[in-house]
Amino acid sequence: MINASVDQTIRLISTGKSSGSTCSPDLATAPWEFDAGVPGYGPGSSMGDVIPTGSPRQGELPELYRTAAPAELDERIRVAKATLGERVVVLGHFYQRDEVVRHADFVGDSFQLAQATRSRPNAEAIVFCGVHFMAETADLLSGPDQAVILPNLAAGCSMADMADIDSVTECWEQLTELYGTEPDADGRVPVIPVTYMNSSAALKGFCGENGGIVCTSSNAETVLEWAFERGQRVLFFPDQHLGRNTAKAMGIPLERMPMWNPTRPLGGNTAPELDSAQVILWHGFCSVHKRFTVDQIAAARQTHPGVRVIVHPECPMPVVDAADEYGSTDYIRRAIAAAPAGSTFAIGTEINLVQRLAAEHPEHTIFCLDPVVCPCSTMYRIHAGYLAWVLDALVGTAERPAAVLNRITVADDVADHARLALERMLAALPTAPATVPAPVTASAPVSALAGA
Ligand code: SF4
Repeated sequence: MINASVDQTIRLISTGKSSGSTCSPDLATAPWEFDAGVPGYGPGSSMGDVIPTGSPRQGELPELYRTAAPAELDERIRVAKATLGERVVVLGHFYQRDEVVRHADFVGDSFQLAQATRSRPNAEAIVFCGVHFMAETADLLSGPDQAVILPNLAAGCSMADMADIDSVTECWEQLTELYGTEPDADGRVPVIPVTYMNSSAALKGFCGENGGIVCTSSNAETVLEWAFERGQRVLFFPDQHLGRNTAKAMGIPLERMPMWNPTRPLGGNTAPELDSAQVILWHGFCSVHKRFTVDQIAAARQTHPGVRVIVHPECPMPVVDAADEYGSTDYIRRAIAAAPAGSTFAIGTEINLVQRLAAEHPEHTIFCLDPVVCPCSTMYRIHAGYLAWVLDALVGTAERPAAVLNRITVADDVADHARLALERMLAALPTAPATVPAPVTASAPVSALAGA
């Protein structure tokens, strides 16, 4: 079973042909059943997260694609891609199901894929098999004549949706009222906004417009160093865990990382707490990575003595602390590839990537820390049926002219600022050793960066 795709694994479990358990019996259901009007994100880790009003909803997928057998969809995708040739490029995120990823020209994390668009400037269409914020970033970094297509518009990201532009703007106004706008004697402004790549283009634009920057899970520490050179403190959104884990590794005390709850005045904090803050954490999280626990790590160590536990920094802090290492998906891949044959890994990240790594590295024992099969439910929305549908539309037929479906575009006024925030990230270089500035009114001493 270890080499089966997650979809196959789920089918085997749900039909009783294999042991094991899934987080929802609905995982055996096709995503279009949920696009028809179920208010959650669909079965899987994000099922309980609420989709914000106004998020795009996918229209009905034509019956042809809903009823086609997997082999038929596979063939349709192959034929359409062959017909389109260099005119199309298909990008597949690490967390996508194998049935989709096998057709991707590039496989990677969100930023690697956005950058991959630049390597194919002549492709007319970029089909992004990922989630909404990723397609937006690809649109920001691709050429003006390239169309970025998200096969299923309902493929959002519950974490990204936890911070919207209105709530962040409201937070910013409260912080501006509290801190003012004047730089200190070293020229550092009161707050620098930092957004994780997993956020809307509107929030990237907000950061660009307000002296801020974007980070990824690979460069979060470098970006925080950049921010502390220019600001007295950081507002970090939307992922509290990446912010906390990174800041903690840099030596920032937890009591200087208040959490901002946008439903409460001052985010639920007192003015003195915010005065002494070094990193203000938005209350967002990833439902997938929140599933990992310290108990799972203890169980893995008991059943596999000598196991190497690597988790993603979107996991809660106690889990990161209990692991042997933590890092981005790219870090996890490189760590596994560099290990001596016969190594055993327990991995705390999305199951599609873990199972694919296990299949790619038969010389190792690799398993997911969470024994329950539970893929990212927003990534799950991209099914081979949707991929075949948008590719067939690009090809067109004698009766139906070629068409671009589900194009994702970022408005020009947002795009310019968002690109600025991305360019700042690309230009930010690690500095060693760096120091975290003392808060304006704090009595505690300046912390030295430990480096992660
Ligand atoms: S794994 Fe988490 S952060 Fe990534 S797309 Fe899914 S919900 Fe969003």
